[in-house]
Amino acid sequence: MSRYEFDAPRLYLDADFSPGAEAALTREQTNYLVNVLRLGPGGAILVFNGRDGEWLARLSVVTKKSAALRLEKQRRPQEEGPDIQYAFAPLKHARLDYIAQKAVEMGARRLTPVLTARTQIHRLNPGRLRANALEAAEQCGILALPEIDAPVAFDKWLADLPGGRLLAFCDEDAPAGDPAAALAGRISSGFAGITVLIGPEGGFDPRERQALLAAPGTLAISLGPRILRADTAGVAALALVQSVLGDWR
Ligand code: SAH
Repeated sequence: MSRYEFDAPRLYLDADFSPGAEAALTREQTNYLVNVLRLGPGGAILVFNGRDGEWLARLSVVTKKSAALRLEKQRRPQEEGPDIQYAFAPLKHARLDYIAQKAVEMGARRLTPVLTARTQIHRLNPGRLRANALEAAEQCGILALPEIDAPVAFDKWLADLPGGRLLAFCDEDAPAGDPAAALAGRISSGFAGITVLIGPEGGFDPRERQALLAAPGTLAISLGPRILRADTAGVAALALVQSVLGDWR
């Protein structure tokens, strides 16, 4: 059984938490709690704000249009998961929604849309990405919202990658190998966080591949003998990283 067995709905609440503090809910949150879940005054909710851990709160003021919560006590202290960032060539519409949610569920702390040569879309709706990440964060039990970067061109992204990070370059052209062993082999050399990179449906172009393989912290990863759809590859790669180096151990 998951250790995050919630006995109450769980919401991100952008407020400071202290015992007895009151916090107003957004219209959407009010609608969800009052009209969908039919919670009344005193109804219990779990809230997190990314700083103060997870708190128990109760509905204090309830009208059809607005509601407020009163914070009671902290239930879980703030904790930080492994420094895993997810860099990806953005996909279209529903598949972008999917990958935003799955990356958060899989523990990515930062989502970076990278515009590569063969990326299908070049503009995306940041509000939609954030909404998907928020929904996933509330559902999966994490205590902070992931950072979401604005789309960045591949060359700039690679040039700005902080030194010391392990770049798990998921390369559809990588020679077959044992990706778990390859990742485990990097534990001894140490690194300041991991960035997983997934390309577009069209894959990486030769110039990009050459630049990636020449970058200092790059580890080219094969995700097996089959060509995975980019959204499948993202989940597979994050599962691999979490199980070998992250918080699945
Ligand atoms: N169009 C390309 C495949 C691109 S798949 C082709 O047919 O060759 C989209 C992305 O998913 C790739 O850029 C890579 O990041 C990842 N990916 C898919 N399958 C993979 C595999 N077997 N090994 C490593 N990465 C893979």
